[in-house]
Amino acid sequence: MMTAAPLRLRLDGAALVRNWRTLAAMSGAAACGAAVKADGYGLGATAVATRLAAAGCRDFFVATWAEAEQLAPLGLPVSVLHGVRPEDMPVATTGIARPVLNSAAQVARWQQAGGAPCDVMVDTGMNRLGVAVEEVEAGLLDGLVIETLMSHLASADEESPMNAVQRARLAGLEGRTSARRLSLANSAGIALGAEYLFDLTRPGLALYGGVPRGEFAGLISQVATPEAQVLQRRRVRAGETIGYNAIYRAPADIEVAILNIGYADGYWRGFSARGTAHAAGHPLPVLGRVSMDLVAVGADSLPSLAEGDWVTLDYALPRAAACSGLSQYELLTGLGARLDRRWMSSPSEPDVDGPD
Ligand SMILES: *Cc1c(COP(=O)(O)O)cnc(C)c1O
Repeated sequence: MMTAAPLRLRLDGAALVRNWRTLAAMSGAAACGAAVKADGYGLGATAVATRLAAAGCRDFFVATWAEAEQLAPLGLPVSVLHGVRPEDMPVATTGIARPVLNSAAQVARWQQAGGAPCDVMVDTGMNRLGVAVEEVEAGLLDGLVIETLMSHLASADEESPMNAVQRARLAGLEGRTSARRLSLANSAGIALGAEYLFDLTRPGLALYGGVPRGEFAGLISQVATPEAQVLQRRRVRAGETIGYNAIYRAPADIEVAILNIGYADGYWRGFSARGTAHAAGHPLPVLGRVSMDLVAVGADSLPSLAEGDWVTLDYALPRAAACSGLSQYELLTGLGARLDRRWMSSPSEPDVDGPD
């Protein structure tokens, strides 16, 4: 048996499912999938996909074939966003997932291998992955059996004229290929309006508590909350400093708790002197610089806080992003391997709502 870690990630499965249902309702008649790449944005792809599949999700997106292999035991419909390299072909042709073909070379590679049903990414302005609109119009995809023809928005989290341009480019390909479905919207794109929904939406961030646009405020619940144990409580005398580079100097005698979490766990240095935590309803401000494995918080507000107690780091994503200067995506996907992931409900009872 493994010793329990002194830091953990509390995961609210009911909130995850609630977020998916909210996004599915906002998706209208379009199916609502789930981006579970980067190990479910740092929460654990298998645990996330199991819960969302139980709630009715039928379209899962990963980046690589290694990620698809990790999900394969669940037997769910998975699409691999990064397509197929030559070295991916042995696993890709086993049928554990559909590739999202991204280039003419990948289309040729897939057709030569028999051309099983696939997805295709068309580039409408992101200039990242995807075949060109002109290539599709010229017949590149003719004869290919396509499940979903998709594109990806560059600026869905902003009011940008680019959104409508990208939407029109994808819409212009309707009926030009064998694709059964068109798909454009990520989380933010779902809020852009009905004409952005097409047949399938692909949220990631908002499933996990991210709020990419104001429309989602109040509708999306926090899912992931880091907690760390107090390793030591100490008194710091007036004029003494705390941590690397001594950036915090105690203005008076203060009480400090040292927590077992640091930037190696995804509690980034951006939280230095700015982050906050709490225990038993009392606020505990981060003092000084975040270390690799430790952080100091002021404990004057909670005289009873002692070695072994658990402290909750404030990690509501919009606030934590503003506070740390990191994106909500980085905050989630950077959560480290040393955190014990603790789901509050079992996958078979995703509807059990705990107190919020
Ligand atoms: C990551 C990704 C998504 C999900 O985006 P969010 O902004 O996290 O909702 C959707 N589609 C593609 C192609 C992606 O790469």
